[in-house]
Amino acid sequence: MLSAEIIAIGSELLTPTKTDTNSLWLTEKLNDIGIEVMLKTIVGDDGARLEEAVRDAMKRSDVVITTGGLGPTEDDITREFTARAVDRQLVYHDEIEARLRERFRSWGREMPDINKRQAYVIEGAEILPNPNGSAVGMLAEIDGKLLIVLPGPPRENQPMFLDHVFSTLKAIAGEVYVNRRILKVSGLGESAVDEVAAPIYKAYPTVQTSILFNKSEVEIHIAARASDPDEAKRTTDELAGKLAEALGTAVFSTSGETLEAVIGRLLLDRGQTVAVAESCTGGLIGQRITSVPGSSSYFMEGAITYSNAAKIRTLGVSSEIIEAHGAVSSECAEAMAAGIRTYAATDHAISVTGIAGPDGGTPEKPVGTVFIGYAGPGGVRSIKIVVPGDRYLVRWRASSAALDLLRRQILR
Ligand code: ATP
Ligand code: MG
Repeated sequence: MLSAEIIAIGSELLTPTKTDTNSLWLTEKLNDIGIEVMLKTIVGDDGARLEEAVRDAMKRSDVVITTGGLGPTEDDITREFTARAVDRQLVYHDEIEARLRERFRSWGREMPDINKRQAYVIEGAEILPNPNGSAVGMLAEIDGKLLIVLPGPPRENQPMFLDHVFSTLKAIAGEVYVNRRILKVSGLGESAVDEVAAPIYKAYPTVQTSILFNKSEVEIHIAARASDPDEAKRTTDELAGKLAEALGTAVFSTSGETLEAVIGRLLLDRGQTVAVAESCTGGLIGQRITSVPGSSSYFMEGAITYSNAAKIRTLGVSSEIIEAHGAVSSECAEAMAAGIRTYAATDHAISVTGIAGPDGGTPEKPVGTVFIGYAGPGGVRSIKIVVPGDRYLVRWRASSAALDLLRRQILR
C-alpha cells in the first residue's frame, strides 16, 4: 500500500484562528483509493523549515502533497523551497505568464510584476492548471516518488486535485477498495475492550483497526483493503463478527448506529414503550431518545423532576425515602422509575438522579455519583455509577449509562 504525507504551509495555520482543513479533505480522498496518510505537518512561512520538511517527507513517503504558499507575495515561499528540497531548478514558463496577463486583462487590470513569480515551475514537473485562481499547481516524479504542490484555498486545490491529480494517484495505487465498519461498545472501558479485542484483530495485520474512546462509548474502527470490493467487505464482516461475539452484549452496534437508535429499533421490534424520569440529566435522555425519527411509536413521556417536591408530587416518590436516603440514592432512583412507569403506563421506564457538580458533592456522594433506576416487566432495579468529568460530561455519561441499562433490560 502506498504511503502519503501532507504538508500544509502558512504561518496563519499555526495560529488558533485558522485551521488546516486541506489535509482532512485530502486524507479522505487518498484513503478512498487505498493510499494511507502516515504523517501530516504544518509549516509556517519559513523557507529552511519548509525545505527540510519536504526533503524528509520525500525520503519517507511515496506521495507528498503540499498545500498553500503559492501566492505572488514575498511570504509565498513554496515554489522556491520545494524545488530546493528536491534539488531541482525552477523554470520560467512564458505561457503561464501570458495566461496570468490575460486573466488580469479580463478584469480590466494590468498584471502586477510580482505575479511573475507564479510563472516559475519545478523543472520537469507537470503543470496543473488553476481555473479558480492565479497559482498553478505542480506534479513531479522524483526518484519514483510523487511530489504534488497545490495552492492553499480549498476552492482552488479541491477541483485541481480532482481534475488533475486523482486519476494519476488512482492509477499508481492500483485497484484498491476499502471497506469500513464501526463497532460501538458501552459499559466497558478502552483498555478492557482492547484486552478482549487485540488478540482477535492482531490476527488481521492488513486490516487497520483502531480503538477510540468517545465521551461515554468505545468505538472500534475497522478498515480492510483489498483488490476486490467483495473481499474487503468479507474481511470486515468476518472481523466485526468475531469481535462482536467476543465482547458480547457490550457491543450495541456493528454498523455505527447511536445508542438511542439501537434502543428505538429494539423497542419497535418488540412493540414496547418507554418513559423516563430525569433529575440531574435535565431532559437529556428524553432529548436523545426523541432525536431518533419515528420515536413517537415507543417514547411515551418524560418528566424532569428536579426538586424533591416534584419527585414526590409527579412520580409518587414517598417523602420517607427522600428523608431516609436522600434524593440521590438507589431507593429514590427505583421509586422514580416505578413512579413514571405507572403514571405513563409503559413497558419500560428509566430514571436518573445524581450530582452533576461542580457543587453539591459530599464525601459519601462525590460529584459524579449517579443512581440509575429501571422499572419493567421483570421488576425494579438500580445501579450506581461514579463518573469523572465536568458538569457537561457527568450529565452526558449519566444519560448514556441510563440508555445502556435500558438496552440491556430490553434484551433480557
Ligand atoms: P493564493 O494564490 O490564493 O495566495 P496560496 O497557495 O498562496 O494561494 P495561501 O496564501 O497559503 O495560498 O492561502 C490562501 C488561503 O487559503 C488562506 O487564507 C486560507 O483561507 C486558505 N488555506 C490555506 N491553507 C489552508 C489549509 N491548509 N486548510 C484550509 N484552508 C487553507
Ligand atoms: Mg498566499
